Amino acid sequence: MDIILALPDHVKLIAVSKMQDENTILRLYNRGQLDFAENRVQELIRKKEQLPQDIRWHLIGHLQKNKVKFISHFIHLIHSVDSPELLETIDKEAARAERTINVLFQIKIAQEESKYGLNWKQANDLLKDYFEGCFPHVQLKGFMGMASFTEDMDQVRGEFRSLKNYRDSCIDHFGQIEAFEILSMGMSGDYKIAIQEGANYVRIGSLIFGERS
Ligand SMILES: *Cc1c(COP(=O)(O)O)cnc(C)c1O
Repeated sequence: MDIILALPDHVKLIAVSKMQDENTILRLYNRGQLDFAENRVQELIRKKEQLPQDIRWHLIGHLQKNKVKFISHFIHLIHSVDSPELLETIDKEAARAERTINVLFQIKIAQEESKYGLNWKQANDLLKDYFEGCFPHVQLKGFMGMASFTEDMDQVRGEFRSLKNYRDSCIDHFGQIEAFEILSMGMSGDYKIAIQEGANYVRIGSLIFGERS
């Protein structure tokens, strides 16, 4: 991990530190990286306690409702809101923690069945509820998407493009930019395509840390 990636200025690197130990994370932190992402709540909490307090922790990956309370007081951004019930829980726990929690809606753009995420209709419905004020302790910041795991880069590009187009249509429809600022797309294998297609957050693990053991 001698390089932090050279990214365009408007693109933020979210270092995916899942399964990396604290010392490895600290080395990257010491080179100026402040945004780190984990996909397991327990692992996230353990690292948060042992690492510098100014790290901004992101939650990626499916989040169980009963775990929200363990991260509600500090989480910087939850990328993976994939159901109305989860958003409701986040709102409730944010209220208890007396703060606003920033979230992204995770949209299912991949072909694969296994991936979590909202379909377009579910996203539309949730946006409607959000703008009607159903979740007052949540600030929507944008969308997250994961492309299919495939060699077919045209397909990957098309999937990223569909989310960018959706985001643009939301800005038009709701006349709101703040809620749609962030487009979190792209991992080690496809981040360059994601950036070409409009990503401004990229979530990268193995490319900067080496393969996870
Ligand atoms: C693990 C993970 C990443 C990073 O994957 P790499 O291929 O190691 O860059 C990005 N996003 C999510 C949701 C992940 O679970």
